[in-house]
Amino acid sequence: MPEYKAPLRDIRFVIDEVLDSGAVYQTLPGYEEATPDLMAAIIEEGAKFAEGVLSPLNQSGDEEGCTWSEDGVKTPAGFPEAYKQFVENGWPSLSADPEFGGQGMPNMLGIVINEMVGTANWSWLMYPGLSHGCIKTLEAHGSAEQKAQYLPKLVAGEWTGTMCLTESQCGSDLGLLRTKAEPQADGSYAITGTKIFISAGEHDMAENIVHIVLARLPDAPEGTKGISLFVVPKFNVNEDGSLGARNAVHCASIEKKMGIKASATCVMNFDGATGYLIGEPNRGLNLMFTFMNTARIGTAIQGLAHAELSYQGALAYARERLAMRSLSGPKNPDGPADPIIVHPDVRRMLLTQKAIAEGSRAMLYYLAMLGDVVDRGDEERAKQADDLMALLTPIAKAFVTEAGFEAANHGVQIFGGHGFIREWGMEQIVRDARIAMLYEGTTGIQALDLLGRKVLGSGGKLLTAFTDQVGEFIAAHDDEPVVEFMDPLGRYKDEWLTLSLAVGEKAMANADEAGAAAVDYLMYAGYVTLGYFWARMAVVAQAKLAAGEGDKDFYEAKLHTARFYFQRLLPRADAHRAALQSGADNLMAMPEALFAL
Ligand SMILES: Cc1cc2nc3c(=O)[nH]c(=O)nc-3n(C[C@H](O)[C@H](O)[C@H](O)COP(=O)(O)OP(=O)(O)OC[C@H]3O[C@@H](n4cnc5c(N)ncnc54)[C@H](O)[C@@H]3O)c2cc1C
Repeated sequence: MPEYKAPLRDIRFVIDEVLDSGAVYQTLPGYEEATPDLMAAIIEEGAKFAEGVLSPLNQSGDEEGCTWSEDGVKTPAGFPEAYKQFVENGWPSLSADPEFGGQGMPNMLGIVINEMVGTANWSWLMYPGLSHGCIKTLEAHGSAEQKAQYLPKLVAGEWTGTMCLTESQCGSDLGLLRTKAEPQADGSYAITGTKIFISAGEHDMAENIVHIVLARLPDAPEGTKGISLFVVPKFNVNEDGSLGARNAVHCASIEKKMGIKASATCVMNFDGATGYLIGEPNRGLNLMFTFMNTARIGTAIQGLAHAELSYQGALAYARERLAMRSLSGPKNPDGPADPIIVHPDVRRMLLTQKAIAEGSRAMLYYLAMLGDVVDRGDEERAKQADDLMALLTPIAKAFVTEAGFEAANHGVQIFGGHGFIREWGMEQIVRDARIAMLYEGTTGIQALDLLGRKVLGSGGKLLTAFTDQVGEFIAAHDDEPVVEFMDPLGRYKDEWLTLSLAVGEKAMANADEAGAAAVDYLMYAGYVTLGYFWARMAVVAQAKLAAGEGDKDFYEAKLHTARFYFQRLLPRADAHRAALQSGADNLMAMPEALFAL
């Protein structure tokens, strides 16, 4: 298993030099203390925890997995102790609201810590990871009483949270869900039904688990308009905050699965469990979006995490493993063969991993910073940031997880046959990465959201908000020696707009045209968006080199990687364009019966 080393230089590059986040946070009330120095110190501490405590448990956790018994779920050796340390060091409360015991740091800092923790051990991150969305949901929509009852313990990490949406008959289409909520005389609800695939639904790391549950009231309308949101604790909570009786919610079993084996994926039975309504009746799905948007950016981080970890392992191997000679003459003449990093094809794979990891880091930190502007910016700035987030969240979730999986797969390939052997740990990264394209809305569902709701549904307004920003950036840097990036970026930006118009027109005549175009459209958007972030990084690197500020190798590596991205990965957008322009007929014309022939 690659030993994780947090890429601190690159993290600082994005936060300080590309996003200039110190200056941004100075303008956001309550975040003035988030200076570059303070953030750097916190990130360094987080890196130590990820590298020293969690990374060593990644492979052993995968080997051991979780075990279920009538008494509950046991997580792998070392997991509860690591969680205890995490709580003692105050990590769960880092970016939570001080009103509930949080440290009030920006969400972006929380995302950086999650990246490091999750790269070291994604399965482990799933336990505290889901609490974050649970906290956000209660903060935004809970009653004063619910906030007082649950938030301080969740923020402190003494309790963890879950999201209970999926049932055996429905995941993407939550309109089909059946779990029932019957009103009780005391104002609570009796929740009855079975939820499946519930991450961290049961475990031995915290004393209580707070489930956020979607269910239907007796008189609720059919479909998504009849879903309400409830909070259901594993242990009921007394008025003084102490733990009361065990609630009627139990883990019936845990899934055996392809990856993230140390994360408990639970079947949860609610047998008339006591729950409390959050917000208005029948508004559950709308309220749940607070949770899901947070979770979607969290899941996008998984793509980055697995690209980074696989890259770290593959790079070390490619420098040591000897095989054949370089085509242009020996590079290691004293050895029996050259290290495989001399071979163009190995470099193609390594640079693909590097470009995906570093580009995604810039994209996702930017998104996290937008989230902070939405929370704390004045009305106009918050609205602008919210529009950009609405457009970029499905792109980040689906594109970065697809790209992250590709990067993880290259890691196996670079190891040759050894990549397929468990002991090296590279195949675990592929297995762990695979789920990210499924949960929190599959790639197909994100693509429909992007094209249908965000782009066409806003009449193109959300898209132009972003492409205008890209256009301003290009105009501001057009005469610099970075024109090699600006020219293609400008072309793709313009093409993205015309392409969207053309798809919209076709979809008006036949709605299947939107569905047929959606995933290629999303991948196209992903490559262009990543191109924008690579161009931003290239501009900074170029300026630093011109100013002779030192760290020359780092900035030159950035420019080389940007060039690789623009010349070898961005052109993939052309293939996606051609595919989506080909229309729906080649998918829909064949009668279903012919699929079996
Ligand atoms: C390890 C793991 C952890 C999970 N954790 C949680 C959790 O904590 N909480 C929770 O509630 N759920 C969780 N899930 C569930 C997960 O979110 C769902 O599995 C996922 O949303 C997909 O739903 P589904 O499995 O029902 O697939 P389906 O909805 O049946 O989809 C099957 C296929 O059809 C496609 N499809 C469906 N509808 C459309 C459409 N309209 N257009 C185009 N394509 C479509 C999908 O993209 C997919 O390819 C988890 C799942 C796993 C495996």
